[in-house]
Amino acid sequence: MRLKVLGSAAGGGFPQWNCGCVNCVRVRERNPSAESRTQTQVAITIGDGFWFLLNASPDLRQQILATPELAPIAGERGSPISGVVLTSADVDAVVGLLHLREFHPLRVYSTSGVRRILTETNSMFRALDRSNPPVQWCCLPLGKEVHLNGDSGLACTAVPLAGTYPDYVNEPLRGTLPPGEATIGLVVACHGKKVFFAPALPGETMTWKAQAATSDLALLDGTFWSNDELVAIRGGGKSAREMGHPPLSGGGGLLEELRWETRPRKVAIHINNTNPILDEDSAEHREMRDAGWEIARDGMEFVL
Ligand SMILES: [Zn+2]
Repeated sequence: MRLKVLGSAAGGGFPQWNCGCVNCVRVRERNPSAESRTQTQVAITIGDGFWFLLNASPDLRQQILATPELAPIAGERGSPISGVVLTSADVDAVVGLLHLREFHPLRVYSTSGVRRILTETNSMFRALDRSNPPVQWCCLPLGKEVHLNGDSGLACTAVPLAGTYPDYVNEPLRGTLPPGEATIGLVVACHGKKVFFAPALPGETMTWKAQAATSDLALLDGTFWSNDELVAIRGGGKSAREMGHPPLSGGGGLLEELRWETRPRKVAIHINNTNPILDEDSAEHREMRDAGWEIARDGMEFVL
C-alpha cells in the first residue's frame, strides 16, 4: 500500500489568504523555517494503477496536477483516480468533488448522512451525475469493512466519531440525519497493513484510540496546538474542542493521550496555519518530534 499526502494544512491552507498571523507572515516572507501547505488531501493505492482519494480538498485540482502518478495516460482521456472516500461533509473535505466533475466515472464512499447532505440539498454536486456511467454514491456503514471498488484489494472501515454536521446544513434536513454519522475516521487496510486516517477527532471519549493502536500508520488531527489558539488570535469564537479538534498540547491533548504508544507511526495532519508546530524552529515543533510525532507536509509519502 502506498499513501501520498497531497495536502497537509487545515481549511484555508498555509498561508491562509486573509490571515496575517506570525506563521502566515513567515511563509509570505519566504522564511525557510515555514513551508507552505495546501489543504489536507491524501491519495492511496495498492500499486495496481488505481488510486483512491481520502476526502476531496478545495485545492484538489492543483494537487492532482502536482502529482505525476495521477495524470492520465498520454493520448487518452481518463484518470487513475477511481474513487473518493469522505470522512465528513465539511466544506474542506468535499468541495474538491466539483474539481472531478469533468465527465469521469467515480465511486464516492461516505456515510448515508453525508451523502444525503451532498445529494439532497446541494444541487451543485449533481454536476457529477453527468459522467457515463454517473458517479456512484456508495454507503459506508459504521464499523463494517467495505471493499473499495469491489475487488481492488483495498478495504475501508468507517470508525464513528462524535461530532456534528456542518453549520451550512439546513435545520429540516439536519433533524433527519443519523447523529453518529457526521464525522468518521477511516481504517484503510490491505494485505495485513492498516492506516488510520482522522483529520478531525471530535468528542471526549477517544474510543478511536483502539483503532489507531492496531494500525501501522495513523494520520491524526493536528489542527491546533492549544485549545484557545484561535480565540487568542480572533479575540473570540470557538475553542479548538468546540470546533471538534482536540488540541495537541495540554491535559487530554493528543500528545499526552498517545504518549505511551510506540505503535502506530504517528503523523499530525490537517494543521491550522496558526499552529506553532508549523515553525520548524519553534519549541512546539521540537516537542512534537521529541514525542515521536511526524508533522505532515505536502508530498510526503508512505509505503506499507
Ligand atoms: Zn495565519
